[in-house]
Amino acid sequence: MQGNRRRDTKPEKLLRSALHERGLRFRVDHPIRPQPGARPIRADVVFTRARVAVFVDGCFWHSCPDHGTRPARNSEYWTAKLERNLARDRRYDKLLAEAGWTVVRIWEHQDPLEAAGQIEDLLQESTTSLAT
Ligand SMILES: [Zn+2]
Repeated sequence: MQGNRRRDTKPEKLLRSALHERGLRFRVDHPIRPQPGARPIRADVVFTRARVAVFVDGCFWHSCPDHGTRPARNSEYWTAKLERNLARDRRYDKLLAEAGWTVVRIWEHQDPLEAAGQIEDLLQESTTSLAT
């Protein structure tokens, strides 16, 4: 299913530049190993120190509640494929959370500036909690 993941999509680029403008530093398309020896999970934007993994989810591939559609043609095929994507998303969320990561999922339709603001808030919270 990695074949679905297109690198450097427009929403990803917009989010990354919004994060850069806020002076945040991060890794792009960075693999995270939830357990030693486990298969790495690639997140779109990764803050390694704060352990925050950001995924930019496409509305179609990740079945956005507002824009997700199921093609009428080959509907069985598509339903199965999109269900598998959802199951994989939830599995990754769980594996990462168990490994102490905070997972942020941003829809491609979300305003990148707002999303960057949410991420910055989250990073500030996590550094505050580390400091105290
Ligand atoms: Zn959407």
